[in-house]
Amino acid sequence: MKIISTPSELKNYLKEHKQSIGFVPTMGALHEGHITLIKKARAENELVVVSIFVNPTQFLQGEDLDKYPRRDEADKKICELSGVDVVFLPQAEDMYQKDEVSILAPKVRGYVLEGHSRPGHFSGVLTVVMKLLNIVNPSRAYFGKKDAQQLNLIKLMVEQMFMDVEIVAVDTVREKDGLALSSRNIYLSPQQRQDALKISESLYLASKLVSKKVWDVQEIKTQMRELLKPLDVEYVEILSRDFDNIKEVILGHTVILVEAKVGETRLLDNIWL
Ligand code: AMP
Repeated sequence: MKIISTPSELKNYLKEHKQSIGFVPTMGALHEGHITLIKKARAENELVVVSIFVNPTQFLQGEDLDKYPRRDEADKKICELSGVDVVFLPQAEDMYQKDEVSILAPKVRGYVLEGHSRPGHFSGVLTVVMKLLNIVNPSRAYFGKKDAQQLNLIKLMVEQMFMDVEIVAVDTVREKDGLALSSRNIYLSPQQRQDALKISESLYLASKLVSKKVWDVQEIKTQMRELLKPLDVEYVEILSRDFDNIKEVILGHTVILVEAKVGETRLLDNIWL
C-alpha cells in the first residue's frame, strides 16, 4: 500500500495507472462504516484510493476542528487490511492556498437542515470534494447515506458541473443496538451514548408507523419528536429523496432525517423508506 501526501505526487502516481479507480474520501478515525465503503470500492474497481483529510473549510468557527479525532497510524493499518492501494494523507497547506477559488453550496438546498445549523458547512464540503475528485479523477466515488444531505449535494454538484464520475451511495452501518457509526461517537459518555439511541429509535418508530399505513408527515414527525424529547433536537424532517417537501410518505421515494445534539456532540441519522 502506498502512502502519498501531496496532490502532485498522487496525480503523477495515478497517471501511470490506467485501471478503474474507486475513491473513498474520509476524515479518518476509520470505523466499520468507512470500511464498508472501502470494501465496496475494492469489489467494484481495480485500484482503490482512500483520502484521510480533516478538511478545515467545512468546520465553522467554534466547532470541533481542533479536537476532531486523528488516528493516522491506526487508519493506515485499517486501510492496509481492507485492501486499499493508495492512502492520500495531505496537510491543509497542500490542499489550500491563501486566496482561494471556492465552490458555493446551492442557496436553498445547501442552507436547510444541517446547512441551516451549520451555514457555510456544505460550501466547504463541496469545495474539498471537488478538489479531491480532480486530484484522483476516479471512475467511482463512494459516499455514505448516513450523510444524506451531503450525498444529495455532491450528486447535484457532479450533475451541474458536468463531472465525469459515478457517485455510489452506501447504506448506513450501525451498532447492534441501532446507533449509526460515526467518528464523533467517541465523544459520548456511556450515559450520552445511551441517550443517543433515541435517534435511531425515532427512525424505527417512523418506519413502524409507515408499515401501519400512517403516511401523514406531520403525524409521524409529532410522534418522533415526542420520543426525542430528552435530546436537543435540531431538526426532524421527512422529505422526498430529492429533498423536496412532501405531505405524505411515498414508499421508495422518502427520506426521514434527524439531527440532535447529545451533550456537545451533534449526531445525524436518517432512514430511506
Ligand atoms: P467522514 O469520515 O465522517 O467524513 O465520512 C466519510 C464517508 O464515510 C462519508 O461518505 C460518510 O457518509 C461515510 N460514513 C460515515 N459513517 C458511516 C456509516 N455509519 N455508515 C456508512 N457510511 C458512513
